[in-house]
Amino acid sequence: MIAHVRRTVLALALLGAAAAAHAAPAPPPKLVVVIVVDQMRGDYVARYGFQWTGGLRRIVDGGAWFRRAAYPYLTTVTCVGHATVSTGAFPRTHGIVGNSWFDRELDRSVTCTWDPGRTNVSYASPVSGGESPWRLQTATLSDELRAQMPVPARVVTVSIKERTAIMLAGDRADAVAWFNAAAGGFVTSSAYTSVPVPFIAEFVKANPVTADFGRTWTRTLPAGQYLFADAGKGEKPAAYWSAEFPHAIGAGAGTPDAQAFEAWESSPFSDDYLGRMAIASVDALKLGQGKGTDFLGVSFSALDLVGHDFGPASHEVQDTLVRLDRTLGRLLAHLDRTVGAGNYVVALTADHGAAPIPEQTAAAALDAGRLDSAAVRLAAQKAIEAAFGPGLGPVRSQYSDLILPPGVVDKLRRDSQATDEVLRAIKAVPGVAAAFFAEQLQSHAAAGDRDAHAALLSYYPGRSGDLIVMPKPYWFFVTADGSPQPGSATSHGTMYGYDQQVPLILFGKGIRPGEYTRPATPADIAPTLAYLCGVTLAHADGDVLAEALAAPAPSAQRGR
Ligand SMILES: [Zn+2]
Repeated sequence: MIAHVRRTVLALALLGAAAAAHAAPAPPPKLVVVIVVDQMRGDYVARYGFQWTGGLRRIVDGGAWFRRAAYPYLTTVTCVGHATVSTGAFPRTHGIVGNSWFDRELDRSVTCTWDPGRTNVSYASPVSGGESPWRLQTATLSDELRAQMPVPARVVTVSIKERTAIMLAGDRADAVAWFNAAAGGFVTSSAYTSVPVPFIAEFVKANPVTADFGRTWTRTLPAGQYLFADAGKGEKPAAYWSAEFPHAIGAGAGTPDAQAFEAWESSPFSDDYLGRMAIASVDALKLGQGKGTDFLGVSFSALDLVGHDFGPASHEVQDTLVRLDRTLGRLLAHLDRTVGAGNYVVALTADHGAAPIPEQTAAAALDAGRLDSAAVRLAAQKAIEAAFGPGLGPVRSQYSDLILPPGVVDKLRRDSQATDEVLRAIKAVPGVAAAFFAEQLQSHAAAGDRDAHAALLSYYPGRSGDLIVMPKPYWFFVTADGSPQPGSATSHGTMYGYDQQVPLILFGKGIRPGEYTRPATPADIAPTLAYLCGVTLAHADGDVLAEALAAPAPSAQRGR
């Protein structure tokens, strides 16, 4: 009997030794945190980072920073970028080709999340519409974590915008919440829940957004510490704000008017609110404190709204980042206390960058301007009528995409001279750099045309345009509104560096700190996080950022 027990103990010891010898994988992170800072240019870290002392500082100093990270595709806009971050795929694969695109069957423009089969669920006033990720063609990392981990991941995403909260999450989640100014509060969708999620409902009740009304956004640091001018050339603040600090949120405390909600969204107060909502989610669901790996996604929207109005070289952008640094500092400190420092992994990135304000670029004697979408559409319409006669129907435009009337694509396919003439007419519009017949993107890309290659990565048949139009550097599309400066002060959505380059920093569990100069894209984030968690993405275009992975521990130390 004793001999038998001894033999069993010996066998178990041998088994244990064998397991240790076979490199047992490091345990996965307890919590995956994906932070997207909407419109954060890659160069903001180098330019404004000297002012950071909180969470951004910790992530930059303690993380694996891919300094040359950039989206490689043309359509550098919000919904596309978030879908790329969450799936590890480019738009040619995930199918999200814009914030909106022209639905040929419905003969109208649709937003990337509009879903006639869903209804939105409000935490505030009743709200119309319905949103979901039903048009996303690739599973997200969090959906794969739910599906593949031995203990399904709990998933929470929060943002100000519906497209960012939804694309970060994917098909299912414990809570997906975004802000809706018309509802005067946060909402979700029947895609995720038929009734308000109790812990979000409790949080928004205890923390009314209107508590920020009557507050004033002022500079956090002494005015002398800000680069550039406060009222920079070409800034275009909303009607209720001037180009200079301070910026008031609403007329008075608690006054719930639409303008106050808009001002609040466009202020760092909305980022701070999302940070607190994220902390409340961690506490309510005990994210990262269970047996499995959980997922928290936060997309901070204020920088995008601020950037569009005040431009990348503004006190407002600098201050939004100074305050986000503090907001993230509080979030990381909370994760240290609850999940444990070193038990969670963070990915910090952006969905796109932004162009400088054309008036400021022009003042530096560089060619810059706003490209009128209507002028491009009209040029195409006229050239098509000149080639094939009138009465074919209207040309539609959506950013870089032109959608041709039914039958015209067939005609162009058979008539290369007419195709050349149409493209020539579009390229004659001031501000246009290039125009392609979508069916020729492949051959142009194969011949080494970089712009065609960028457009091809963004191209999804049936959703993308029939003709693809690209502005010159420092130009972007606007819709003419009769004003001398139509559209926002600045924008994004091109294949130029200022739109494509974004921060990409991984931090925490399993990550080796360092600065890396090899090319990388935000599509590498989900594959890298999936690798850390030991799950497989079915259809990623990105790759694992191997340099960022911590060296494996010696096998003798494993399994203890
Ligand atoms: Zn964006």
